[in-house]
Amino acid sequence: MRTIEHWIAGKPTAGTSERTAPVYNPATGAQSATVVLATTTDVESAIAAARDAYAEWSQTSVSKRVKILFAFRELVNNHAKDLAELITDEHGKVLSDALGEVQRGLEVVEFACGIPSLLKGDYSDQVSSDVDTFSFRESLGVCAGITPFNFPAMVPMWMFPVAIACGNTFVLKPSERDPSASLFIAELWQRAGLPDGVFNVVHGDKVAVDAILDSPDVAAVSFVGSTPIAKYIHERGTANGKRVQALGGAKNHAIVLPDADVEFAADHLAAAAFGSAGERCMAISVAVAVGDAGDRIRDAVRQRAEAVKVGSGRDADSEMGPVVTKQAQERILSLIDTGEAQGATVAVDGRGYTVPGHEDGYFVGPTVIDDVTTDMDVYAEEIFGPVLSVVRVDTVDEAIALINANPYGNGTAIFTSSGEAARRFQRGVHVGMIGINVPVPVPMAFYSFGGWKDSLFGDKHIHGPEGVSFYTRAKVVTARWPHRSHASDASFHFPTSK
Ligand code: NAD
Repeated sequence: MRTIEHWIAGKPTAGTSERTAPVYNPATGAQSATVVLATTTDVESAIAAARDAYAEWSQTSVSKRVKILFAFRELVNNHAKDLAELITDEHGKVLSDALGEVQRGLEVVEFACGIPSLLKGDYSDQVSSDVDTFSFRESLGVCAGITPFNFPAMVPMWMFPVAIACGNTFVLKPSERDPSASLFIAELWQRAGLPDGVFNVVHGDKVAVDAILDSPDVAAVSFVGSTPIAKYIHERGTANGKRVQALGGAKNHAIVLPDADVEFAADHLAAAAFGSAGERCMAISVAVAVGDAGDRIRDAVRQRAEAVKVGSGRDADSEMGPVVTKQAQERILSLIDTGEAQGATVAVDGRGYTVPGHEDGYFVGPTVIDDVTTDMDVYAEEIFGPVLSVVRVDTVDEAIALINANPYGNGTAIFTSSGEAARRFQRGVHVGMIGINVPVPVPMAFYSFGGWKDSLFGDKHIHGPEGVSFYTRAKVVTARWPHRSHASDASFHFPTSK
């Protein structure tokens, strides 16, 4: 059985722990590897490697840093398929989707290649007699990333390209459920010429996470995962004086108005609900049908749900793979049971789904649940599976109020042909990322990604301009070079400009 080790100071290491966790192939249900789970000592050695490397990396010229980023970009691009295969074999998503995730991560690397422009400061001449003021931003030190299972390459790539480009060093604690992609990324960094210790990977669970949160040598923590853990990370990290951005879970609604193109909306709703087996923080999990759109959209989505090709992610014909673990599969199935017991109508039933040749895989078929109300568990819980709930309301304002009453605020979308309704929606919803006839509105790398309310703890969104701001801090210099002939103007009152 293959053992997946940490990557500290430029080489793999088993660390000091006796604890390990199994890694499975979700399409077959077979164990494919064992991952070591770090002790506090292991995490401390990764942080020490990053701290030691920071002394030199933070002083490396921005143009040298960018050359390494460009080389890394080329390597990831050339090895996109290898990386995607590692993702498919441990996460389960279909290969084309895994390639898409690598592509979206690469876009952040490309954004970070522009760091010389992004780090340019301001300069004001003659703010007082013979006095100039200028500002620039400096790196923070050792930054850490703690990431979820559902995007084992893209989500870490939301973080470390920007952090490293800004002159920080990095310790990544990826999900223990699909840890291989992060190690391959570490190797690519080394081949790109990144000095040892600038990028480190420690595998583990709460023990490793707590060691990061409690370390006085970690300046900033980026987290992406579920809401209860995001809240915990934010509270413990900030209590220890760190900068923390903690992105949490989601329950994303798409409103369908009676004037929407129903066939277009159904195509996109099905892709957004069942793509990656619903294991995306931007997946649409609730369709809010307004007025007489209800039956039409339910029927059109039902047709598409029944036609989704479910199978192994390695099968080129598959459109949707398994969910990540047996526990996830059981949880999703039991939530569908609960929905039915609480009075919802299961319009398309994904329970008991088997894929020939993959009988032990963790498959759940696409599921559509109609007549869902907000007091039901299928509405309240983040299901994180291929389940679309249909809720019916009478007006667009009622739909907006429903979205705003939900504790999450990650993404949302509207399907309509009315510009007026779309504008009312975009201004009225309390959500960070909004799609207008676009169901999964993930911002491009040069914008920042982040939700509102229980979908984000902290005040900076991730990557894009807010990422640069998160991984740097400002210095403002007020400078004077007096000529020897100038009289001194020192005085005891508070300095004011002259
Ligand atoms: P998770 O919260 O279980 O795990 C995320 C990370 O936290 C992992 O590295 C895990 O090892 C660690 N962790 C888990 N339990 C912990 C504990 N008790 N103490 C300390 N650390 C702990 O999330 P997941 O199941 O891996 O990922 C799915 C979740 O992530 C969903 O809720 C999804 O919405 C969310 N997500 C959000 C975004 C976003 O951008 N907002 C993006 C992707 C995923």
